[in-house]
Amino acid sequence: MFAVHLLAFHFTKLKEDQIKKVDRYLYHMRLSDDVLLDVMARFQAEMVKGLGRDTNPTATVKMLPSFVRSLPDGSETGEFLAVDLGGSLLRAHQVVFDDGKGDRQLETKCYPTPKEFIQGNGAELFDYVADCMLDFMETRNLKNKKLPLGFTFSFPCKQTKLEEGVLLDWTKHFKVRGVQDTNVVSCLRRALQKHKDIDVDVLALVNDTVGTMMTCGYDDQRCEVGVIIGNGTNACYMEEMRHIDLVEGDEGRMCINTEWGAFGDDGALDDLRTEFDRELDLGSLNPGKQLFEKMISSLYLGELVRLILLKMTKEGLLFNGKVSTALLTKGKIEMKHVSAMEKYKEGLSNTKEILTELNLFPSEEDCIAVQHVCTIVSFRSANLCAAALAAILTRLRENKKLLRMRTTVGIDGGVYKTHPQYAKRLHKVVRRLVPTCDVRFLLSLSGSGKGAAVVTAVAYRLAAQRKQIDAALAPFLLSLETLREVKNKMRTELEYGLRRETQASATVKMLPTYVCGTPDGTEKGKFLALDLGGTNFRVLLVKIRSGRRRSVRMYNKIFAIPLEIMQGTGEELFDHIVQCIADFLEYMGIKGARLPLGFTFSFPCKQASIDKGTLLGWTKGFKATDCEGEDVVDMLREAIKRRNEFDLDIVAVVNDTVGTMMTCGYEDPNCEIGLIAGTGSNVCYMEDMKNIEIVEGNEGKMCINTEWGGFGDNGCIDDIRTKYDTEVDVGSLNPGKQRYEKMTSGMYLGEIVRQILIDLTKQGLLFRGQISESLRKRGIFETKFLSQIESDRLALLQVRQILQQLGLDSTCDDSIIVKEVCGAVSKRAAQLCGAGLAAIVEKKRENQGAEHLQITVGVDGTLYKLHPHFSRVLRETVKELAPQCDVTFMLSEDGSGKGAALITAVAKRLHNVGQK
Ligand code: ADP
Ligand code: MG
Repeated sequence: MFAVHLLAFHFTKLKEDQIKKVDRYLYHMRLSDDVLLDVMARFQAEMVKGLGRDTNPTATVKMLPSFVRSLPDGSETGEFLAVDLGGSLLRAHQVVFDDGKGDRQLETKCYPTPKEFIQGNGAELFDYVADCMLDFMETRNLKNKKLPLGFTFSFPCKQTKLEEGVLLDWTKHFKVRGVQDTNVVSCLRRALQKHKDIDVDVLALVNDTVGTMMTCGYDDQRCEVGVIIGNGTNACYMEEMRHIDLVEGDEGRMCINTEWGAFGDDGALDDLRTEFDRELDLGSLNPGKQLFEKMISSLYLGELVRLILLKMTKEGLLFNGKVSTALLTKGKIEMKHVSAMEKYKEGLSNTKEILTELNLFPSEEDCIAVQHVCTIVSFRSANLCAAALAAILTRLRENKKLLRMRTTVGIDGGVYKTHPQYAKRLHKVVRRLVPTCDVRFLLSLSGSGKGAAVVTAVAYRLAAQRKQIDAALAPFLLSLETLREVKNKMRTELEYGLRRETQASATVKMLPTYVCGTPDGTEKGKFLALDLGGTNFRVLLVKIRSGRRRSVRMYNKIFAIPLEIMQGTGEELFDHIVQCIADFLEYMGIKGARLPLGFTFSFPCKQASIDKGTLLGWTKGFKATDCEGEDVVDMLREAIKRRNEFDLDIVAVVNDTVGTMMTCGYEDPNCEIGLIAGTGSNVCYMEDMKNIEIVEGNEGKMCINTEWGGFGDNGCIDDIRTKYDTEVDVGSLNPGKQRYEKMTSGMYLGEIVRQILIDLTKQGLLFRGQISESLRKRGIFETKFLSQIESDRLALLQVRQILQQLGLDSTCDDSIIVKEVCGAVSKRAAQLCGAGLAAIVEKKRENQGAEHLQITVGVDGTLYKLHPHFSRVLRETVKELAPQCDVTFMLSEDGSGKGAALITAVAKRLHNVGQK
């Protein structure tokens, strides 16, 4: 009993001594967490360098774009081939993805990679690959079948497309003449084409890291990193497009093949490299290159161990100082030996066996020491890998602006898979270095080669989806020709509205407003104004001063109009309005004052004078009963009377377009057009009296409220209306009416987008084919979301957050599509609005008989003001369609309220003049 204890004690002591000895000897190979954090920081900096346009040429970590932009979503289908060149074996795969059920079939056959091919000449290598494929297709009975092929090629390639890549450098144990700087896909295609009885199309060139990520991504959609630790080492991850200078475009993400094996080739790791690393490098196929890889991958670890053992022996620290020929021979210790020696239980006996095989005569102590050398070498490898991986994970987390991130790393390679402790150690260190990431490591089961098939399948799916999306959005792309037609049709409708015989049936009603002049600056006084017609109802007090101290001051209060009042009875609506006025007067402390009032009422009204307006029909969100056909001024007067609390002098009823024109006209006499692009869409302009047949008199001008929102109600633009427009129309308060407005204004754009999204989802192109409860809700997609989503300053991630808030659970790909849909809808709106406006300015130019017209358009409306592109596209369209007109757009500040007061002031002035 005692003896056994003593023996155990003796052994432990002996072991400790040996371990201490090796630890001291390999002091520089043992990396503390501080050092690893430092390596991590260096690698982060190197990644940034590789991504930058100007810094990339001198970066060692090349950060190669892979042109893989999407991860698998599980709906991939079809039959694919893949070939994998770059590992220790050449592999041919056949993969069948079954109609999106996640089922798949995989057949693989391996072929050797004889030295004469991998260190011979290029044409022969690719002929050999083609021969292997031919053999594989024969055994699988696939000849004469047309199949897409993905090519896994695990060397640094500069890609410009998914199916094209120029080899930068051979690495690992490959060194083939005449391939560097050529497109390897062409090489393979050429070789395959020599076989007339097979028909394969090389569709994707894939690095093995990318293949690994994609294979794992098929099972776990969170997978966005791929790592290989095998013969070589490398990693890829999904980077934000906006950080990738070398590829056009800012949308979405793309997989970056880091080629991290070359980290340190500029000396960045020299302080960590040991004499053994230097010696190993000098004896390699590619001295000075892939220095990080040479500290990590299986091709080198065995050799590192050999170099260490050799030196230790020479120094008398092992094997009694006796070197064997085997120990002197390069390559005699391989990774498989390192793994065997580090095995948990049999490790020591394995070590003894291996060393004996090398003609060394190991003592117990020697075996313990050698085993520990292996541990230090392989542990360093895992540590370095972990540091670089931690840098990638941190970058991913920061890209997503998350404090904590859950993610999955797909991983493959012999070292990781077969070394007894490697995986465990790697995971542990990564988790220690990046405590803010919850990382799942997913072993790629079927080899990186299959990943090429996944990439090819995803590319196939995306191409098919792209076609469907393009088809859905095609009707929103209007050619210049079409826009010209729209302009011409608008012009025709404008004329119909002005003519006595056609006016009654005209869809663009061209309503006279009895506003005959713009302000001249002599207006003054205190006025009340009401602004009703859109999202808000406002009451304003406007103080206008004339002369040298000319100014307009306004006080206003916004009141909500509840839906039940907008769509209740007329009496309720007007009682509510008067209630708001009473509140306002009280609030301002002017209850007793009998002020002149201008009423901005932004619905089509037939006017017989400036203070009479018969409502022709509600538009936008209003539908109160018993109002259509009634005079709105009378209704307001009656409501004031019913309340019997105060009296007001209603001087003018004004359309918001007119108010806007007048407000801008107060600043710029050249402003003769008013445009609204808000909840609704409408325009007014100063027309020559002689052209207005339904109003007596031929002198001077009068402002015409076009009510162009009704353009198309006779079907004249049905050729450009889409099924989505029809859906929106059918679901609206006024079906069949305001067709142009429904394609151009704030109340409807979001709803059009929602209809398209529903359709695309039904087609399985969005939201994983699931129409969520929220997407079913009418009005959920407000036009303000278009503005947010289309903002150039917004990263895709934020688009996703917006969609999330709407209850739409979207992927990165989804948000790209949603953004595209929004863009198509808002662009069409702006272009159509521009075409209409071009018709107006052209008409004005012709009225004046001028070759060239200079004119200002006063504009109001939140769509125009806040949408990031609407106003620009509108202006560009007008310029394109009315090249002889020089149109200035002037934003009206508070147009409709101020305008109503100005009109009231003008009317009051004229009225007073008339009375005198
Ligand atoms: P109105 O036309 O009702 O008098 P606005 O000109 O303020 O008032 O327009 C309001 C409309 O503008 C809303 O109904 C909505 O459709 C749209 N809208 C609101 N916010 C935005 C935004 N950020 N971008 C584009 N459109 C918006
Ligand atoms: Mg308005």
